[in-house]
Amino acid sequence: MTALESPPEQTGPMPAEQREALLRMPGFGSLYSDHMVTARWTAEAGWHDTRTGPLTAFSLHPATMAFHYGQTIFEGLKAFWRPDGRHVLFRPGDHARRFARSARRMAMPELPEADFLAAVAALTRADRDWVPRPRGHSFYLRPFLLAAETHLSNRPAAEYLFAVIGSPARPAAVEPAPIRLWASTEYVRAADGGTGTVKCGGNYGGSYLAQQEAAAHGCHQVVWLDARERRYVEEVGGSNLFFVEGDRLVTPPLSGTLLAGVTRDSILRLAGRLGLAVAEEPVTLEDWERGCRDGRITETFACGTARALAPVGHAVTPEGEWAIGDGGTGPVTRRLLHTLLDIQYGVTPDEFGWLHAV
Ligand SMILES: *Cc1c(COP(=O)(O)O)cnc(C)c1O
Repeated sequence: MTALESPPEQTGPMPAEQREALLRMPGFGSLYSDHMVTARWTAEAGWHDTRTGPLTAFSLHPATMAFHYGQTIFEGLKAFWRPDGRHVLFRPGDHARRFARSARRMAMPELPEADFLAAVAALTRADRDWVPRPRGHSFYLRPFLLAAETHLSNRPAAEYLFAVIGSPARPAAVEPAPIRLWASTEYVRAADGGTGTVKCGGNYGGSYLAQQEAAAHGCHQVVWLDARERRYVEEVGGSNLFFVEGDRLVTPPLSGTLLAGVTRDSILRLAGRLGLAVAEEPVTLEDWERGCRDGRITETFACGTARALAPVGHAVTPEGEWAIGDGGTGPVTRRLLHTLLDIQYGVTPDEFGWLHAV
């Protein structure tokens, strides 16, 4: 048997004063709320034993399959505070469906969408006082699923553990600083037929060497090129990528190696509101550089749940580097970011039905 047998490490919720002091400090992913939701799956019983309880350490046997063969998936979504005291989740159904797709690709059991929604809502309700209020701040929810069977065989597990934990998150860059990107020509993130379209743990572990290479070149993140030709620009770290060309917004198509970001989809839909045409078309590293140098491409930004939109100021390759626009945050990036934040914080109506009150 496996998880959850350990005694709670924290006795009861954190005192309000201490929590409020912590919530005033910016950060991402280093602070956790009081509770977690867990559920188990076994081949015999299916999904069972769903509970909301105190956040505690798992006690797992060293032969737990997730430790050895990387059969793990995760999601990341946000809850926002509303002045009327309610909380809203941003597009939780889309995250639920992607979680199920990730599970299918990794030969794991799919958590029904309704159960995913119930779990993220239950944690948000239990830890409502952990949802920060200022614009840009949010409560980041991390659902994940791992192979919990104790066995050393190289095959899909017959037992799984699902959990959701929550973490108050720093401002999603209300005034974001431009990032520098390193184009990795040696390492790739994803190849045709692989797992690049899903959020499985191994995709990230496999990317850190390239991330270290980026840091060694003074860059914040890696820009991933396609595995076949190392020619097409696909993604940035764990984010999708957009280019601004006049009044056109261009993003690489979901070719089978890209992760279909919920933020990417939101931006494609919001673009029309700002009078921008959208195109999902391949962009080569060469097109990108030439476009920036001749002024056709005026802005580039990365996007994902954690940071919303992050402007790209410079691109660096083994051959040299170039600035995007003047290397600062462009007006289209800023307008799109604030259009998205306005919906998330309830400043403008949610005409797309993206918000789910809990
Ligand atoms: C999570 C992720 C994204 C962004 O997806 P969102 O749904 O917008 O958060 C993009 N690329 C990769 C590789 C990711 O893991």
